[in-house]
Amino acid sequence: MARFGLILAFSGLLGAGCGTARPRARVPFLADHYGPTTAPPSSRWHRPSAPSMPTVGAVEAVDTSSSTRRQVVTGPNGKRYALRWTKRSGSVGHPAGGSLKDGRALPDTGPGYRRIGSRPFGTDETVTYVAYAAWVVAQLFPGTAPVVIGDLSQDGGGHCSPHRSHRTGRDVDIGYYKVDNEPMRFFVSLESEDLDTDKTWAYVEALLRTGAVQYIFMDRAVQEALYRHAKKDGWDEETLGKVFQYPGGNDKAVVRHVSGHRNHFHVRFVCPPEDEDCES
Ligand SMILES: [Zn+2]
Repeated sequence: MARFGLILAFSGLLGAGCGTARPRARVPFLADHYGPTTAPPSSRWHRPSAPSMPTVGAVEAVDTSSSTRRQVVTGPNGKRYALRWTKRSGSVGHPAGGSLKDGRALPDTGPGYRRIGSRPFGTDETVTYVAYAAWVVAQLFPGTAPVVIGDLSQDGGGHCSPHRSHRTGRDVDIGYYKVDNEPMRFFVSLESEDLDTDKTWAYVEALLRTGAVQYIFMDRAVQEALYRHAKKDGWDEETLGKVFQYPGGNDKAVVRHVSGHRNHFHVRFVCPPEDEDCES
């Protein structure tokens, strides 16, 4: 079992019966506790046999007397990972008018990512998912240049200029991966041929498979490149029509065109299930 930061890899985890003892060891959270993996990741991976929309279950509490939360997700490689975090934060109100209680700061750097900007605070869930997706891309592409993570929210949330939203810890801006493993220092608009669709789609797919993405704002040209990539990977058109606004114009698609998202994409996460004052 490879233990790495907040993520613990399991095989056959969901086949465990009710009476099977679940691992209780608490996985420390985030960069303070990251260490080298015990086994070097392989450079190739097996994709899920039947790509589909995320079917991840709700957050499950390992121990209701504590604040430890656990969620099993399927990575872009088809493997299952258990994410664990300590629940403290509260997303309050609407992302364009609310605040963030006891937010958690995403460290400046972590496996597979580098954060820029001065607004590192998110809900426990947002920070976990964003760090997990970067980590899993780094597992799939060993030695990858880190993805650039921009603003989340400020401490306590509230107004976050120049963003209209980003107030409740559920929004985050993320840069694109460039071909040839060229490191990005900030957000850069990439032509389609310069976009690393392998990595960028893996990041987006990892997020989608958490089941916690409300929507993603992404320029249509980037959507087109990722759509074509995902289709080549075996995703069917019906599913892709639910994921991408491109090409059919589905207003309810998860990934939508909003101008200004050529050099980064914006992710809005759903209200964490326990955050009763959160408004979607
Ligand atoms: Zn944004």
